[in-house]
Amino acid sequence: MQFNQIMVRYGEMALKGKNRHKFEQKLQSNLTHKLKRYPATRLKKTRDRMYVMLNGEDPYKVMETCQEVFGIQSLSFAVRTEQDEDKIKEAALFAFNEADNAKTFKISAKRTDKTFPVGSQEMNQRLGGYILKNTEDVTVDVHNPDVEITVEIRQDAVYITSKKYPGAGGLPVGTTGKTLLLLSGGIDSPVAGYLAMKRGVEVEAIHFHSPPYTSERAKQKVMDLAQEMTRFGIKLKVHIIPFTNIQQKIHQEMPEGYSMTIMRRLMLRISEAVAKEQDILSMTTGESLGQVASQTMESMSAINDVTNYPVIRPLVAMDKLDIISISQQIGTYDISIRPYEDCCTVFVPKSPKTRPSKEKAQYYEAAVDFSEDIKQAVEQREIIKLKLQTETKTENEFEDLF
Ligand code: ATP
Ligand code: MG
Repeated sequence: MQFNQIMVRYGEMALKGKNRHKFEQKLQSNLTHKLKRYPATRLKKTRDRMYVMLNGEDPYKVMETCQEVFGIQSLSFAVRTEQDEDKIKEAALFAFNEADNAKTFKISAKRTDKTFPVGSQEMNQRLGGYILKNTEDVTVDVHNPDVEITVEIRQDAVYITSKKYPGAGGLPVGTTGKTLLLLSGGIDSPVAGYLAMKRGVEVEAIHFHSPPYTSERAKQKVMDLAQEMTRFGIKLKVHIIPFTNIQQKIHQEMPEGYSMTIMRRLMLRISEAVAKEQDILSMTTGESLGQVASQTMESMSAINDVTNYPVIRPLVAMDKLDIISISQQIGTYDISIRPYEDCCTVFVPKSPKTRPSKEKAQYYEAAVDFSEDIKQAVEQREIIKLKLQTETKTENEFEDLF
């Protein structure tokens, strides 16, 4: 016997009114894209669930892939069998055995086809009895079972589900707007982007690059991070900003203690210009309070001074170890620790001001006109469109994405 389907349960709680349709549509399309690497699978939607038909694909691999999709609460394998009591019994036992360490269980049978001769209550008892007879040290617990086996008797077939696997939670990417993520090659910003995606936000990325001070490999590292993030976001547009001129100008003309603050202010001004052009309503960074000199309260305030845009900081209150642990889970950590230098590390002053004032930053900046440089940087940016990689299909399968 083997599982033929995966049952997908999604956030009933968040699904009121108009939002429901958008939520379901996005979830369905995100899941469909993710499943393209398993060409035999088909996705079917019913009133309040989705089912992945496995059609012979490896159930565990497909399950792992589904577990990366935001907006799913939990998943279960399901067996489809005929309306035949012996076959149902066998399937229920198979479903129970899938839950490795379960010691208690509950059967929840539901007979939607009333022509089936055995009622739901009676079915619970017969199947429960069968499992008890064929296992050791196992008991029934109707209140708090280790595993609940659902048995749905329908006209076309009988569906038996096994234990629950956790979904990624959150909301389907694309349901809550768009953000422009300031993506460095570090550990934090990819995690910040991941957490924004988890709340349903579609992410575009912007990266500041300073050749020849930063190498092609440093840029490739950022592209690799962005590629990894498409596992959750399906697609990711990356804006690569040529930042060398501006950094040199800051280096030459701004007081050293303020060069980092001013560089960050310029990054935000450029990001805002790109966001506006792309109709994106917010920016996201990987800043975390107190982590480094630029991330003190004073520093964040002096940097944020240049924009009225909401700047989302998903990591602001998180500890570094927790951030690292997420980056390991999502597969970006090993890329982030590659040793290539970032534009900020190349030009970093020996002793940056940890408590800059925005008045001083404004005062120093007023001596030099950066507006033309900002315009040029935006105009001369390179745009790279990345999409989820699949092993089995051709390039043009995602043509409709952008
Ligand atoms: P990260 O690990 O994300 O690099 P960090 O702790 O190293 O963060 P900083 O390097 O000071 O902190 O950067 C703070 C935030 O500024 C980053 O999380 C990122 O959002 C943004 N940032 C820094 N450098 C760049 C860059 N070269 N291009 C785009 N954004 C950047
Ligand atoms: Mg960094």
